[in-house]
Amino acid sequence: MEILDGRQRSQELTELYTQAVEKLKKVSVTPKLVVITVGEDPASFVYVRQKKRRAEAVGMDFEWVTLGDETSQEELEATIDKFNDDSKTSGIIVQFPLPNHLSESRAMDRIAIEKDVDGFHYYNAGLLVAGKAEFKPCTPKGILNLLEAHDIDVAGMDAVVIGRSQIVGMPIAIDLIHHNATVTVCHSRTKDLKFHTQRADLIVVAIGNAHMLDASYIKEGTILIDVGINRLDDGKLVGDVDYEDVKDKVKAITPVPGGVGPMTVAMLMEQTILAAIRQHGLDSREFLG
Ligand code: NDP
Repeated sequence: MEILDGRQRSQELTELYTQAVEKLKKVSVTPKLVVITVGEDPASFVYVRQKKRRAEAVGMDFEWVTLGDETSQEELEATIDKFNDDSKTSGIIVQFPLPNHLSESRAMDRIAIEKDVDGFHYYNAGLLVAGKAEFKPCTPKGILNLLEAHDIDVAGMDAVVIGRSQIVGMPIAIDLIHHNATVTVCHSRTKDLKFHTQRADLIVVAIGNAHMLDASYIKEGTILIDVGINRLDDGKLVGDVDYEDVKDKVKAITPVPGGVGPMTVAMLMEQTILAAIRQHGLDSREFLG
């Protein structure tokens, strides 16, 4: 069984990004990531702190804008506009979830497409479908990067994606199609989930249901990508996969924590660097190889 270690891969990428930022600074460009949070969701704060640590580790500028719970849609959009217009800001993300009175989809679509480093804007989502994406959602991009780093070619595989969210399920399904996998997308209305998963060569599970996928769902030798992040009552973080139950049956698996999560943060760094490169009319090959 092979462990697809996202922590190690993201560390390697951090070195590449650090060098890229150093080179960019020599031509007076410092990539800057702005993260906007609304309210005080503790899980979101953990994720933002991870992004801040990584951004600082690679040498880019980072600004965390914290807006109060009562912020209106107009105030949120005015804040996004301020950074859309700021020439020093390379990338902007609005950390989800937002409080219920705010529209996440309006917030996603307010970000300037050239600063949409999360790749959630409908324009960038459309480019992904067309196979011309400039910014992809970071989790799917990180999954493909991790598979490639382990020489796993998905072409021809029967892939099953469980979950159809705009940020994970949908875009990974589309990207897997572009990488020549045969893709089935399952969700909460799927009639017989095991019928699909038991024949899959590759399963990406992104549902947010602790330990749901056990050995009875999979065939021998499948590759399991566990996107879920669930906190148990004792504070422990676990995925959507029952790791102990499946570990002797899989060919390869991402651990939680330490699998997909660090790759998501790494891809956010890459896309912020790419945004800065494009905004200054530079050639990405000179900086990122
Ligand atoms: P959403 O809640 O937006 O989507 C969950 C999806 O799972 C929906 O499509 C839902 O179906 C489907 N689903 C839920 N329960 C079942 C079930 N029992 N059987 C089949 N399908 C089911 O979640 P996200 O996509 O935003 O996130 C999913 C998980 O991934 C969460 O744990 C989240 O924390 C984690 N995550 C991890 C990231 C990382 O970097 N590691 C990044 C982003 C998310 P339906 O559409 O029918 O409701």
